[in-house]
Amino acid sequence: MVDMSKRVALVAHDGKKEAMASWAYRRKRQLEQLSLCATGTTGSLLNDRLDLDIKRLKSGPQGGDAQLGAMIANGELDALIFFIDPLASLPHDVDVKSLVRLATLYDIPLALNQASAEAILSSL
Ligand code: PGA
Repeated sequence: MVDMSKRVALVAHDGKKEAMASWAYRRKRQLEQLSLCATGTTGSLLNDRLDLDIKRLKSGPQGGDAQLGAMIANGELDALIFFIDPLASLPHDVDVKSLVRLATLYDIPLALNQASAEAILSSL
């Protein structure tokens, strides 16, 4: 049984949004038992495709990643699942670095790919 009180953020770079949508579709039953938030475009996609109840932040490059960083620092996030695109260089790469640093500093479970997302989901 997944813990409804667990607060989990979902983010996917553009090149990984389809992978995120397919993974979330397969894991919908577990995800709908969590308190979810997502960066803007990722959240729109998941809301449209899966009808999940997801709190949408700003788009990642427009400050959504920074909002997630603040949530981690404020103790408002229990896990971060961020499907990064390892084959793309993005103008907001620095935001990923910042999130990895904060998740490490605050000891938040962090998944950067699907295999680790599966591990986190099954541990919640
Ligand atoms: P997005 O942000 O969901 O608004 O596209 C993702 C990202 O940080 O690249």
